[in-house]
Amino acid sequence: MAKEQAAVIILFGGSGDLARRKLYPAMFGLFQRGYLQKRFAVIGTARRPWSDEHLREIVVDAVKTMPGATLEQAQSFASHFYYQSHDVTDADHYITLKTLAAKLDDQYQVGGNRIYYMAMAPNFFATIAEHLKSEALLTDNGFNRLVIEKPFGHDYASAKALNDSITATFDESQIYRIDHYLGKEMAQAIMALRFANPMIENVWHKDFIQNIQITLAEAVGVEERAGYYEQSGAIRDMIQNHVMQLVADLTMAKPDSLTSEAVHKVKGDVFDHLHVYTPEEACDNFVRGQYTAAVIDGDAVTGYRDETGVAKDSLTDTFVAGKILVDTPDFEGVPIYVRTGKRLTRKSTQITVVFKPAKDNLFNTSDEPDTLTICVEPSEGFDLVLNGKKLGQSNDLIPENLAFRHDPKLAKQAPEAYERLIQDALQGDQTNFTRWTELAKTWQYVDSILDAWQNNTTMPEYPAGTMGPKESFDLLARDGNEWHWQPTHVKMAD
Ligand code: NAD
Repeated sequence: MAKEQAAVIILFGGSGDLARRKLYPAMFGLFQRGYLQKRFAVIGTARRPWSDEHLREIVVDAVKTMPGATLEQAQSFASHFYYQSHDVTDADHYITLKTLAAKLDDQYQVGGNRIYYMAMAPNFFATIAEHLKSEALLTDNGFNRLVIEKPFGHDYASAKALNDSITATFDESQIYRIDHYLGKEMAQAIMALRFANPMIENVWHKDFIQNIQITLAEAVGVEERAGYYEQSGAIRDMIQNHVMQLVADLTMAKPDSLTSEAVHKVKGDVFDHLHVYTPEEACDNFVRGQYTAAVIDGDAVTGYRDETGVAKDSLTDTFVAGKILVDTPDFEGVPIYVRTGKRLTRKSTQITVVFKPAKDNLFNTSDEPDTLTICVEPSEGFDLVLNGKKLGQSNDLIPENLAFRHDPKLAKQAPEAYERLIQDALQGDQTNFTRWTELAKTWQYVDSILDAWQNNTTMPEYPAGTMGPKESFDLLARDGNEWHWQPTHVKMAD
């Protein structure tokens, strides 16, 4: 396949935060690496009455300090950008957009290839898709692909309504639903770790795995996003999408190949086997929490209910921990503990697989479980902790850590998540995007927990800067387990 990808990219939300912070730098990365060269144009649309020149200045500003960038290169990249003031609810604006896209298609010889990127508030997604159809923007030659940001719905019913409206214009093979966690280096590395190493692959099974732990910890609070977050909470914001996708990566069977079709087939099987709890079980197995005021490193930190835009009696979860069970033959009965939250001790995404202890311990001291920790961010790598023999003349055991970290300098040069995902969309590879059937199952699962919580208005609290409420620790203790990563008394690299 030729390296250069030709397309007109129509970006809805061209003046937005996501476009400036992530999408323009990602496209620039593709430009630097030659995936975008001459045959591409980007139409940024938003409500403001900007000119092409103004958008180009914004783009240059967004990319000029990227590694390896020169001002000349940034300007050459930005010269491919065009701006259209566009109200997504106004049909006439789509006609103007169609004319501009056709002109650029010709000018840059892109052969009818189009990417429609929805980077605006989700309540506009359906309107845009409908207008793209009614005003006939899709081309007959080349590809037409829709890239759509999260959140994809608020619950199963709204996700289905959104899906119905976009599938009236695009079929599933044209839809690229973003879950940017799937673009992260170490999330993508899970498959290699599992399936390219027989010593790992052969013990990746309920006979050898005691439990799996997934932590997505944020140190920041709700920041300026209270309006969105009050309606979402941690379970919708993080569990339904990122955490569920990681659960699938960790428990799916080996795909027949690395094609999108093969990978989604085995992932789909995991979602089909999620163990759905009764309301009572859901409350026992999923705990939530809300951060309260605290002093961290001498600074006073506001509690959630006192944050601007948050209701004083808010029952929004800023933390959630749960035990997920996947009823497949290989993983039945293996607890998958997940937790995520705001204002936790430290920012980190990591996964620990805790293996079962040796069957008959021949040694003087009790053996610790072997563990494999996959560090997704901020550091990228893994730790394999095995029992070794203590130095000296004894048969005492000691946990030994075989640690690997990507060189941070090299890791910085690797494409960022959005860059990988936009490249995939340009190349027509849907592996790292979510399918509707996956979303449907994960929303139904999350809805069942939210429904159960409705009848239980207790909201456990945790002081900002800690790792969540006591109930999260109790959840594991009940099974005789504990959270492996406890950054107040760090056992492992983080
Ligand atoms: P934003 O509010 O910064 O930008 C919204 C954009 O939509 C602006 O360009 C605005 O001009 C445009 N817009 C609003 N109303 C319009 C209308 N009627 N017609 C035409 N244009 C209109 O939002 P954002 O932070 O860039 O987020 C965009 C999407 O990306 C959202 O779905 C969000 O959930 C998702 N997202 C954002 C981030 C992030 O880091 N910002 C991360 C993940 C997902």
